Amino acid sequence: MRVDAVDKRYSTGSLALADISFEARAGEFISLVGPSGCGKSTLLRLVAGLGDVTSGRVLVGGMAPSTARRERGDMAFVFQDPTLLPWRTVQGNAEFPLELRAISRIQRRAAAREALSMVGLMDVANQYPRQLSGGMRMRVSIARALTTKPRLLLMDEPFGALDEITRQRLNGELLRIVALAGWTVLFVTHNVFEAVFLSSRILVMSRQPGRVIGDLAIELPVPRQPDLRTSPAFSGYAAQVMRLLAQAEGAGE
Ligand code: ADP
Repeated sequence: MRVDAVDKRYSTGSLALADISFEARAGEFISLVGPSGCGKSTLLRLVAGLGDVTSGRVLVGGMAPSTARRERGDMAFVFQDPTLLPWRTVQGNAEFPLELRAISRIQRRAAAREALSMVGLMDVANQYPRQLSGGMRMRVSIARALTTKPRLLLMDEPFGALDEITRQRLNGELLRIVALAGWTVLFVTHNVFEAVFLSSRILVMSRQPGRVIGDLAIELPVPRQPDLRTSPAFSGYAAQVMRLLAQAEGAGE
């Protein structure tokens, strides 16, 4: 994925992004952190092909994002709100993107079951969203993204509404699934510790208009273990990101 000198100005006149450039290599886990309103969601949506850049360009696998998403199914989007269909079972929700692609029923079932077992939800495949906890609903949403076998996963604060313990558990599970699936991930979060734990790289953005003011490689051992969170190396990275964020708050003034 490549973002090249991208500016985004909304029709309201608001300049959300200024001169954003970065490249994500296959298998990288990149988090975008920055003050609220700095354009993280805007950037994610542009990469998803939801909205147009004002200038510059975005390429996913060498293609326009909308082509990569619609025609090739190369990317999937997971939002903070899992947006599950309440009248469908867990299995039915996981199959949904494949129905939109007119994939046969047998293939749909198999792909959904594989995805549900990856996220550890086979036991609740026949239950409805309202019967599940917030963390389980989020896992259904991740399973739904898995069924289309995307190469790029875009996540906008997916764990923002969950308690800290659930968030940490899902962080571990997400990394396990990402490693299994071989995904490249672009992940938006406010949480510095979550960003350090998950990422191979963190981009820190300034206040509006969003610019990249820090690009940090997180060279912590993989697979990431829960006790990593109490290590000095982990704290060192978190401190570095927080220093950049403090600068980000100041930038733009
Ligand atoms: P973040 O995700 O970092 O909180 P956003 O990408 O949501 O930031 O917003 C960046 C800026 O763009 C904000 O000033 C916001 O008000 C503005 N913005 C976001 N979406 C729209 C829109 N649809 N129309 C006009 N302005 C928008």
